[in-house]
Amino acid sequence: MVDLQTQYEFIKNKVDASVLKVFQKGTFINGPSVSQFQSNLESYLNVKHVIPCANGTDALQIALMSLDLKPGDEIITSDFTFAACVEVIALLKLNPVLVDVDLETFNIDCNKVIKAITPNTKAIIPVHLFGQVANMEEIMNLAKANNLFVIEDNAQGMGSVFEFSNNNKIKSGTIGDLGTTSFFPSKNLGCYGDGGAIFTNNDDLAYIIRGIVNHGMYKRYHHDVVGVNSRLDSIQAVVLNAKLPLLDFYNERRKEAALLYTSRLESNECLITPNVKGDSQSHVFHQYTLRIINGMRDALAKYLSDLKIPFGIYYPIPLHRQKAYLDKRYDEKDFKISNLMSEQVISLPMHSELDEDQIDFICEKINEFFKDQEN
Ligand SMILES: *Cc1c(COP(=O)(O)O)cnc(C)c1O
Repeated sequence: MVDLQTQYEFIKNKVDASVLKVFQKGTFINGPSVSQFQSNLESYLNVKHVIPCANGTDALQIALMSLDLKPGDEIITSDFTFAACVEVIALLKLNPVLVDVDLETFNIDCNKVIKAITPNTKAIIPVHLFGQVANMEEIMNLAKANNLFVIEDNAQGMGSVFEFSNNNKIKSGTIGDLGTTSFFPSKNLGCYGDGGAIFTNNDDLAYIIRGIVNHGMYKRYHHDVVGVNSRLDSIQAVVLNAKLPLLDFYNERRKEAALLYTSRLESNECLITPNVKGDSQSHVFHQYTLRIINGMRDALAKYLSDLKIPFGIYYPIPLHRQKAYLDKRYDEKDFKISNLMSEQVISLPMHSELDEDQIDFICEKINEFFKDQEN
């Protein structure tokens, strides 16, 4: 699905020398590369504060911890995404409210968010799924009208841009009160291990969060709040400093690959290619995800694995049907789209090193598969 070795070859000189320097100086934790990365990312995102942490799940948990919520407060998030959001909501004894997604973008359906808001709702966590920014204009309007916090889960959307109706363009992750991301190796901006970060333009939240990530300390050995230990290590920051200047290039390569896939698959009536809402900056193709609409998704998956063509099913089970998050409140008829998506979606290899021959081969095989079905 990704080709991190080839990507590494291009930045090897820079990364190897700087990693060696960390070894030689022994600055493994909170070394200069970490503060350098923090400020590099603040410039890239055009956001006041970046707070690095250990991974994208921690980033979500810490973001929620900073909001002074009470057990039972309701947090609205998507039913069709990775489990990290619902997991940290539940861990903090908050009340997850899962909401169905939009058929065209796989992102949370704002009309259904409206219906899910109650007097106990305190925050919304939109996820920019597969790299496509959610409808942040509607979400921010809803949040404002109902006095809710917005935390953007930008783990899959780094570098995407939302265009408001007044033509204002803002990078994903910096529109809500807080944004979070993951630097897991396969993300659009990935390191060589685990890493994550929280973004905000709010000085007060940034101050609170800087203490939370460091055991709740604002002064050494004075623990004012319950915190966690969550750090980005210096070696990961070295890798990120080498890759951040290339992020827009990487995302362009992903978009080119997506265009090639779509041009070769869109006439196939058994499937639906990804729908890009907004301009080309609104989708950075963390995944290239097809909907197989003739009921043959699992057969296609088997065919691809026989041919040793990588693929992914993101996500095979919607969150409201996961054992850990079952809840009597949920009614199947409220999750028509996420249920359908879990049966239809399949993601193809997507990374900055894909070439046209590889894409041609994959698409040829997929088109052949469906032709064989007809005969
Ligand atoms: C990867 C991912 C996360 C979790 O990130 P980790 O660094 O693995 O903890 C959270 N949300 C989404 C949408 C992700 O894709």
